[in-house]
Amino acid sequence: MNAPIREPSFRESVDLMFNRAVALMDLSPGLEEKIRVCNSTYIVRFGVRLRGQIQTFTGYRAVHSEHMEPVKGGIRYATNVNQDEVEALAALMTYKCALVEAPFGGSKGGLCIDPRQYDEHELELITRRFAYELAKRDLIHPSQNVPAPDMGTGEREMAWIADQYSRMNTRDINARACVTGKPLHAGGIAGRVEATGRGVQYALREFFRHPEDTRIAGLSPTLDGKRVIVQGLGNVGYHAAKFLSEEDGCKIVGIIERDGALLDENGLHVEQVRAWISAHGGVTGYADATHVEDGASVLEMPCDILIPAALEAVINQGNAERIKASLIIEAANGPITAGADDVLRKNGCVVIPDMYANAGGVTVSYFEWVKNLSHIRFGRMQRRQEESRHDLLIHELERLSADKGLGWELSPGFKEQYLRGAGELELVRSGLDDTMRAAYGHMREVWHSRGDVPDLRVAAYLVAISRVAASYRAKGL
Ligand code: GLU
Repeated sequence: MNAPIREPSFRESVDLMFNRAVALMDLSPGLEEKIRVCNSTYIVRFGVRLRGQIQTFTGYRAVHSEHMEPVKGGIRYATNVNQDEVEALAALMTYKCALVEAPFGGSKGGLCIDPRQYDEHELELITRRFAYELAKRDLIHPSQNVPAPDMGTGEREMAWIADQYSRMNTRDINARACVTGKPLHAGGIAGRVEATGRGVQYALREFFRHPEDTRIAGLSPTLDGKRVIVQGLGNVGYHAAKFLSEEDGCKIVGIIERDGALLDENGLHVEQVRAWISAHGGVTGYADATHVEDGASVLEMPCDILIPAALEAVINQGNAERIKASLIIEAANGPITAGADDVLRKNGCVVIPDMYANAGGVTVSYFEWVKNLSHIRFGRMQRRQEESRHDLLIHELERLSADKGLGWELSPGFKEQYLRGAGELELVRSGLDDTMRAAYGHMREVWHSRGDVPDLRVAAYLVAISRVAASYRAKGL
């Protein structure tokens, strides 16, 4: 009998991936070690009186690298949160921010809790208390450490955190910049909720702009008609699936959830599936598709693009050999273990790595932070000015056409479209698109220009680590 394969932990996986990249670099061993290690992890245990008794909660905030400050990264609410996991996630934040040129160090936090077990008021008490503990130690702070949503948290929790920080720092004019992912009415930015899913879409569009890259995956260079399987229809998976099916002609042939999977070769209706999940807590009972009880088996079905958008390590040494997708884009953090990576590459599957693929969230967080510090909505100064300049041009064209009897006619809809100045949402999407294109360009240049870079993940690490290293060197380290 074969000995069971030992799967590296998430943290070991991140370290292994880091090691693969630094082996190709010329860093001093001291600097290499400095970049690898997590600078600090704060563990807090605090009590909250709920339902007549005190309940104790355990929370974490890991700071991986302070080569740039503030440090940035989400706070997740899940029962399996632990020190190793937040440290691995904090390290990924360091590399992610470096890769997409968001001027932050990396951090991550978590609270061991199943949020579904508490009502809204209880969650508010718990969140405020956690925020108090972190803010007291500058682990929430506009210039030191800026959290954001992650698994199990969203706009609501971020609004409580922002308010808690403001109450503790009444004279801080930049208090709102202490956390991102807030609702619009509490200092948030348009397009933050959709940002990670939107980033996945922009990443895929960029990948498909390079026929040499799609060829490596054995795919034709167009997104239109591609068969997609999504694992997890949470915020990220939902938006990615929605945009890809509604705007890029992709067919969502499979959706995997906690209680099984839905299949439809003609393409599932993402909006309807999402509504069903919200109403019934899972996909079971959804009528317009085939239900498969063993959701994990659907990961192994043939498709063009597989989007793991939920948990860590779902593709591991146990199932990697059976994965048939041509392209995997890691919308979640760490869905593929280091061991599985090798198997997939050997089998010709291309992986667009998490550090790039899901960086849309932190990119738009960066825009939100800048908005909060500048105290003005993007586009507020330029929008109408832009419109009036465009109006001037249209008028001139119309006058010319009439005066000279040229009979020019603008195509239908052009005038309205051209005359509309960009508001915050358009600017955010444009900034995100630009970021995703630029970062892909940097990764692929490294991937193709040297002979020793096996895949996009190693390329992403190389780009990120060399930037972090440059920043440490500039500090004289
Ligand atoms: N939690 C998200 C991530 O893992 C967003 C972090 C942020 O916006 O700071 O990238």
